[in-house]
Amino acid sequence: MTQTLDPGARRAILDAVDSLRDWSVERLSDLVRCPSTLGREQSALERMAVLYGELGLVPRRVPVVPDALAAHPGFSPPLVDYAGRDNVVALHHPRGAAKGRSLALQGHVDVVPEGAADMWETPPYEPAIRDGRIYGRGAGDMKAGIVSTCAAFRALRLAGLQPAAEVQMQSVIEEECTGNGALACMLALPKPDAVIIPEPGPGHDALYTAEVGVVWAWVTVSGRPAHVRDMQAGLNAIEAAQIIGAAFKDYEREMNDGSRIHPAFRGVNHPVNVNLGTIEGGEWNSSVATRCRIGLRVGIMMGNTAARVRSDIERIVEAAKGHERLRGARVTLDFKGFMADPCVFDTGAEIVRLSRRAYAEVTGGSLRDYPATGLTDGRFFALYQNTPVACFGPDAVDIHGIDENVGLESMHGITRTIALAMAEWCGVEAATP
Ligand SMILES: [Zn+2]
Repeated sequence: MTQTLDPGARRAILDAVDSLRDWSVERLSDLVRCPSTLGREQSALERMAVLYGELGLVPRRVPVVPDALAAHPGFSPPLVDYAGRDNVVALHHPRGAAKGRSLALQGHVDVVPEGAADMWETPPYEPAIRDGRIYGRGAGDMKAGIVSTCAAFRALRLAGLQPAAEVQMQSVIEEECTGNGALACMLALPKPDAVIIPEPGPGHDALYTAEVGVVWAWVTVSGRPAHVRDMQAGLNAIEAAQIIGAAFKDYEREMNDGSRIHPAFRGVNHPVNVNLGTIEGGEWNSSVATRCRIGLRVGIMMGNTAARVRSDIERIVEAAKGHERLRGARVTLDFKGFMADPCVFDTGAEIVRLSRRAYAEVTGGSLRDYPATGLTDGRFFALYQNTPVACFGPDAVDIHGIDENVGLESMHGITRTIALAMAEWCGVEAATP
């Protein structure tokens, strides 16, 4: 691999990143203050538009139009309406014809719900710094990564440089439930030569080598209401739903059998997870519950597909209907949310090798491989666009949990890595004033 950057430019870029530490922490804090859960991403998207403007780029909105995406194999059935939640992108164009290779820097602004807010040491949407880490929902997953992409781009400019090829900045919605934001942006923009997605590592800096697929399913059980004094006359929907939930846990056990596990996940404890994520139902403590709905997330190992797991789910629910405790119940099944295939990333790709080398150079360490038991938007580029993906990011702890946090030193290291990787991949030229 050739080193395209001269030592002076390299030094100037790294110095510029260092001068942006406070700026980065402020921007990250601003983003954490935006409670960008599903359907409430507006303030975070607005911030990203401002941030891209601050980089000297012109932000542009990319809507998610389900009808336009529905035939795509990567599309997932939506959960909520897309009005007012357009993704934000911004494109950097080099002066004259591109001399280097184009790059997309992609990240998601949506976060998962904060859970029991009273269990957080400090409130989930009030960023707090303790022991060199910043706490807050989304701090790690993945607002730190998004800020790193912006700081990296800004650092080149501060060094008097800019990428000598097109750079796409993409801030998308719904990475946590469908991926439709990423799909819409990928299809709306030219195919880049490579993508960097700074998703967080599991308690250490890491590079994603593979990720499972996921299907979301919703099972609704309608029982037969009765007063509890006639309990036998009724059919309790909550108890019936528990029987169905147990059938899914049996399926989970089967799917984690060693013979089914892809080599990329060797040594990973329990890679295929079935999560009973939500349950709602019942009306009154002294009434036999009429209706209960459970929301499931079913993981998929490579070698298997979302389509096949979907039919497994249909089969499990059909079989459960035959259970004696469900006799007379009405059971319906919906698929809304993830219908996502698993994906192995090409870690031999040049963008990955270059990122690893940049990381080693700026941190003195090496990026650890991470076969992920959750998913990222990386699959769209890898599976449907044949674009190499380097998905790597900072040390984050308790993402999706209580007291989510990310290491600031780690985040700055990722920023330096992205800045150097971008400069080498795209090449650099003098910044346009
Ligand atoms: Zn994420």
